[in-house]
Amino acid sequence: MRVAVVGSGPAGAYAAAALARSGEAAVDVLDRLPCPYGLVRYGVAPDHEKIKSISTTLQRVFEDPAVRFVGNVEVGADVSLAELGRYYDAVVLSTGAATDRRLGVEGEDLPGSFSATEFVSWYCGHPDGRIDAFGLEARSVAVIGVGNVAVDVTRILARPADELRRTDVPDNVLQVLERSRVEDVHVFGRRGPAQAKFTTKELRELGELTDTDVLVDPADLVLDEAAAQLVAEKPALRRNLDVLQAWADRTPAGRSRRLHLRFWQRPVAVLGDRRVCGLRLERTRVDATGSTVGTGETSTVEAQMVLRSVGYRGVPVPGAPFDVQQGRIPQERGRVLRDGEPVPGLYVAGWIKRGPTGVIGTNKSDANETVASLLEDAPSLPPAPESDPDAVLALLAERGVEVVLWSGWCAIEEAEIAQGRALGRERAKIVERAELLRAATAAPRT
Ligand code: NAP
Repeated sequence: MRVAVVGSGPAGAYAAAALARSGEAAVDVLDRLPCPYGLVRYGVAPDHEKIKSISTTLQRVFEDPAVRFVGNVEVGADVSLAELGRYYDAVVLSTGAATDRRLGVEGEDLPGSFSATEFVSWYCGHPDGRIDAFGLEARSVAVIGVGNVAVDVTRILARPADELRRTDVPDNVLQVLERSRVEDVHVFGRRGPAQAKFTTKELRELGELTDTDVLVDPADLVLDEAAAQLVAEKPALRRNLDVLQAWADRTPAGRSRRLHLRFWQRPVAVLGDRRVCGLRLERTRVDATGSTVGTGETSTVEAQMVLRSVGYRGVPVPGAPFDVQQGRIPQERGRVLRDGEPVPGLYVAGWIKRGPTGVIGTNKSDANETVASLLEDAPSLPPAPESDPDAVLALLAERGVEVVLWSGWCAIEEAEIAQGRALGRERAKIVERAELLRAATAAPRT
């Protein structure tokens, strides 16, 4: 059978791997970008080289003869989902969670207030972002949310730029980070430290920043009975609390940057007239029912830049069902549901299936479940009318779509390595889509 997987991030790659392993399918992995790997390339922070090295495993998937990378093709724009049905017996949607959750407070859209997604896209060199989106002239930055993305953006803001030279961070980003005026980063959790979403390994890295004092108010770490019980039951939470307590006990060393980690503070308004100048917060507490509620006690913090790091959100794929409330495609064991009934031949994997949670490896079991459903259904799926693998490429060429195949991606990699070398670095990411496409065509397309 022929299967199209839409999205080449971890979920899409693991789905393609499972399909190839079955020996029953030839797989095209379509991506709207000319580059594969989704959030591994455009979400994992440049200094997390170990996590990024997962791309080596994913690379092997795309090198499997049963798998073909078809980049720079947007399903819903260049080709519709219905049209894919002409060329493929089944389609797996693994489009991730491409946008951010809204905060829902006044001033959220003031210039200087950004979603963490925008900042991550910028420092990862995502071709959709503006290359000059960030100047880092702010002295004080407020980060809202205490998940791993908040930790990532905080670390990139506080880390000496020189330490990023060895990474593949785009050169324009490196230059801005070198000129950064950021001195204070304030991170706010709306609940207590026992409810924070970050993981200990990521949290610890903040304490290892060479030129930053981490400041924690010991009063924020006092646990009520329920939180104390939660911490006693979950060793990971105990480890987080221990790290935070050690920082609360530490005397600041007078370093040039300060990271203020605050809990029990919920954002009420982003302040500013024509651009951001601060953030108003309300102190929270746990009430008798165990819910976190506002105390009415407000405070403001000066900030010339606000990063809202309150989670990602899935966006609909034109032609596929979508649960707006959840920001996900309705499904059961990976089978897409419309009005509660499976849509024949349509499947879903990854964040667009289960929501933006879990680590990269979580997508493996997630994709395997989806592929198991697909293979179970395979005998009863009607075959696609057009079985020639080149027919879909012919259609795209007719429409003027500059498809980037695997050889094109390899040429982009070579160009990035050459560009890095010219700058005295191992590799530097190419950012602009036009430049990526130019680099891709430097190799013969096979
Ligand atoms: P997340 O883990 O869901 O964290 C979101 C944070 O935003 C939470 O602290 C949440 O607080 C807070 N929040 C939500 N709505 C808010 C509001 N209206 N006001 C204030 N705070 C609000 O999401 P994420 O950080 O975007 O991470 C997404 C996934 O990627 C996670 O699974 C994460 O572990 C993973 N990731 C992993 C790594 C890594 O392994 N190194 C790096 C980056 C991301 P509440 O809990 O109170 O809702």
